[in-house]
Amino acid sequence: KSKGKKQAKNATKAIEQAAVLGAGIMGGGIAYQSAVKGTPTVMKDIRQDALQLGLNEAAKILNKGVELGKVSPKVLASTLNNIVPSLEYSAIKDADIVIEAVVENPKVKASVLKETEETVAQDAIICSNTSTISINSLAESLQQPERFCGMHFFNPVHKMPLVEIIRGEKTSDETIAAVVAFAMKMGKTPIVVNDCPGFLVNRVLFPYFAGFSKLLLDGADFVAVDKVMEKIFGWPMGPAYLLDVVGMDTADHAAGVMSQGIPERMQRIGNDPIQSLYKAERLGQKNGKGFYDFG
Ligand code: NAD
Repeated sequence: KSKGKKQAKNATKAIEQAAVLGAGIMGGGIAYQSAVKGTPTVMKDIRQDALQLGLNEAAKILNKGVELGKVSPKVLASTLNNIVPSLEYSAIKDADIVIEAVVENPKVKASVLKETEETVAQDAIICSNTSTISINSLAESLQQPERFCGMHFFNPVHKMPLVEIIRGEKTSDETIAAVVAFAMKMGKTPIVVNDCPGFLVNRVLFPYFAGFSKLLLDGADFVAVDKVMEKIFGWPMGPAYLLDVVGMDTADHAAGVMSQGIPERMQRIGNDPIQSLYKAERLGQKNGKGFYDFG
């Protein structure tokens, strides 16, 4: 009996309402995924046009689902109904969880997190979708760092199953349990990792990109490397194509952070192919040309 009581006291916090800060590629995707799995979700940005883009993207995914017979018109309507766009912080005040997905800038994130903590309830959970900023350093902007952790989704959010949940030094077990449960409610597969440069996925991925860059500098042909990885290894795409999907700006920034954070595992050579393409404004799919040309 007493065990039952203890469990009830420590029960995982239920997430009935969510909020996402930033309606860009990631914020829009996270808001959609939360909404489609039945959680009313505020999507906040500082720009009306960004909110509109986020909503259009959600509608596009849903309409495609309806066309393919995978989404019912009822789910389409309820999902769009579940996404509440707003430009105001006051709209997030009742959220049980807030997922920050604004621009990758530590100062902007710190001020957004601080403002969030001042707006939400004492027991609301706060997460960041940062790819490269330390969770422990972001936690310093909060009064209650125990309710904060990383929740790192992958692009495109509605297709990629993995979510890294990053435990900061001060994150409580209750926070981790609630975020794991929410990731599962969103239909994702969570893994809990510690705070370190690149967390888990980028710690694996970026040394691989660095090895690929060195191969190209040794004279390898990127199309041939992609073919080997795809046709012989059976990977869904090779490193050049994957870099085009990630975007050379994002990859260049992350490669810099990784080579500083784990220099013993990946040293960056100046003017490697990622940097050269970035400087030549060949960003990948996002602007139509990277390693490949996207017509
Ligand atoms: P993005 O540029 O597409 O979107 C950022 C959005 O944040 C914009 O709509 C902008 O108007 C909004 N914004 C800026 N300041 C704001 C504020 N103070 N309050 C509310 N909204 C604000 O960027 P993105 O690619 O979606 O990246 C967002 C975050 O997700 C970054 O931390 C990035 O590291 C991380 N991330 C990106 C990817 C990716 O592949 N793009 C993958 C995983 C994680």
